[in-house]
Amino acid sequence: MINILSKEIYNKIAAGEVVDRPYSVVKELVENAIDAGASEITVEIEGGGKKKVRVTDNGKGISKEDLPRAYLPHATSKLKTAEDLFTVATLGFRGEALASIAAVSRMKIVSKTAEGNAYSLSSGGGLLGEVTEAAGANGTEVTVEDLFFNTPARLKFLKSDTQEEGEVSNMMARFLLSRPKIAFNYYVNGKLKYRSFGDGLDSALAAVYGAETVGKCYEISAEKHGIRIYGYLGNQNFSKPNRSYQSLFVNGRYVVNQTVGAAVTNAYGAYLMKRQYPFFVLFLDVPAEIVDVNVHPTKADVRFADNQIIYGCVYSVVSAVLDGNSKALEYLVSNKTEKGAVQEEIPLPKAEVRSTFPELKPQPQMSYEAAKKELAFDVSPVGGRTPAPRLFASDEPFTMKVNSPKPKEQEQDAFEENRAFLLEQEKKKQEKIDPATLAYKGELFRTFLIYEIGDDAYFIDQHAAHERLIYNRLVARTSSREQVSQPMLLPFVLSVNAEEYAFLVRQLPLLRELGFEVEEFGGTSLKVSAVPVDLQNIDLDAFFGEVLRSMETLNGIKLTDLLKDKLASAACKAAVKGGEFLTDDEAKSLITQMDGDMGLRCPHGRPVAVKMKKSELEKLFKRIV
Ligand code: ADP
Ligand code: MG
Repeated sequence: MINILSKEIYNKIAAGEVVDRPYSVVKELVENAIDAGASEITVEIEGGGKKKVRVTDNGKGISKEDLPRAYLPHATSKLKTAEDLFTVATLGFRGEALASIAAVSRMKIVSKTAEGNAYSLSSGGGLLGEVTEAAGANGTEVTVEDLFFNTPARLKFLKSDTQEEGEVSNMMARFLLSRPKIAFNYYVNGKLKYRSFGDGLDSALAAVYGAETVGKCYEISAEKHGIRIYGYLGNQNFSKPNRSYQSLFVNGRYVVNQTVGAAVTNAYGAYLMKRQYPFFVLFLDVPAEIVDVNVHPTKADVRFADNQIIYGCVYSVVSAVLDGNSKALEYLVSNKTEKGAVQEEIPLPKAEVRSTFPELKPQPQMSYEAAKKELAFDVSPVGGRTPAPRLFASDEPFTMKVNSPKPKEQEQDAFEENRAFLLEQEKKKQEKIDPATLAYKGELFRTFLIYEIGDDAYFIDQHAAHERLIYNRLVARTSSREQVSQPMLLPFVLSVNAEEYAFLVRQLPLLRELGFEVEEFGGTSLKVSAVPVDLQNIDLDAFFGEVLRSMETLNGIKLTDLLKDKLASAACKAAVKGGEFLTDDEAKSLITQMDGDMGLRCPHGRPVAVKMKKSELEKLFKRIV
């Protein structure tokens, strides 16, 4: 016999799809407040949100007549016709959140519109009480108590108060960041945890992560192929032990996305120590037609029409900022200090990104469509493999803006720190010197080379310097695909499962271009008989292990990034070591090859040169004070 479920039971079941945890209750309520146009939102939770969640806003409110309707499933004021579905601009539109939450909790809404009085309506397990007159300011206050009190099975699945609280807090942090124009107050068990003032992203970042974090970040704003990328990137020395410090917002919505995550992580590449993750708060504004956000309401993922373009854009912007934009940064900083709050847009000087790269002619800004066409054209599909990206897309020109934060009283500290940090960067990067003017003065401990110029002395770590130079060369060679193979004494045979095999076979053309000699070896095995000459000592087992581990996200792009990592270690091995003696000529040639760039870092992020002023030395000897 087929039973028709009663409305109460149906709502209870449906509730599970929208609200499964306290944090999803908070999410739905805050989104409603945002949709209502609130400029100030207060969120209070108790007992990890299981005991109580209250969200108060100063939005447009709910009228007396609408109050009972707000509790009905599929009741929404945000959508009238089916056509509206395609143009909906609000966060909610399904009209199921309040009904679902009401079904599994004790809920009370007090609301007042500008025109009417305040009214209150309570419910218990979905059963409505009476609308009564109440007191209250314009806006809405929704209180949800005893979540899942009538669905014990679900209650059992909740984690501890602290864990649930943690998830709510993470989400609140993301609300503060994604809605920097809204003032948020967030209380946990009566204690204020986050407070933002609705006065901008820098302020919101300080509210969530502390003022000092602002100073450890690059603020970026770039536009590429019709895609806007802006936000904050942790500097090379500011990484985190896990991914929870990574926030991505696509068209204003918080999402977790592998393509973007991989692009950022790979751009940091060698700057990161093992098991460290970059810090970022990034916003991507993309044309609506290339992104599918109509995914399940509780899942924060998003699909892009073309992952490679997104990857390329993010990778190139982030890696340029990290690797070589020093000149731009320096330029903008001085601009900022002189002119105050200005936004400068300057084209990034190409040759400065990586000096050893072939010169690229500046190209006009491309639209997303043009980018897609070019990509399709660029890639000759060999044997139906996934299109190979242009390697190290960071060499394309793009314009970068660094926003100057407007000094505000309460964040004075953060800006001071930010400025100090950037000034320091600037100082470091100014140190490009004509190598001919440097006088070689000998070496110390067979490790540090000493150069003199005017009143400055430079100590150069011979290993770090050489390593960086070799690395640059290897990267350039790989990106131009001018690889030479080195046959192996014993071929390496790799046996994998069918899925992995199919995947690797698709990568064969790219692997071959990169200098690997690989062929199918019967069954699901592959034979590697030669490797790129630059990577003679590569641990193939580990390399293919990594390739396969990233199978899901890998579209041929990441392969080259994996190699970049290998190139860094190859460069390290090939470089002169500390303790090795360099002749005068070798020492001079090193500085010439460095092109006098004292701001270089080795591929692992350590400085190549350290400067000491004559006056510092004099101070040590108390010649001056
Ligand atoms: P949806 O947000 O998908 O429309 P909800 O169940 O979350 O569905 O909310 C139902 C309706 O209740 C909304 O369409 C809106 O009209 C009203 N509403 C809910 N929360 C608020 C609020 N904080 N301020 C004003 N109206 C609200
Ligand atoms: Mg809603």
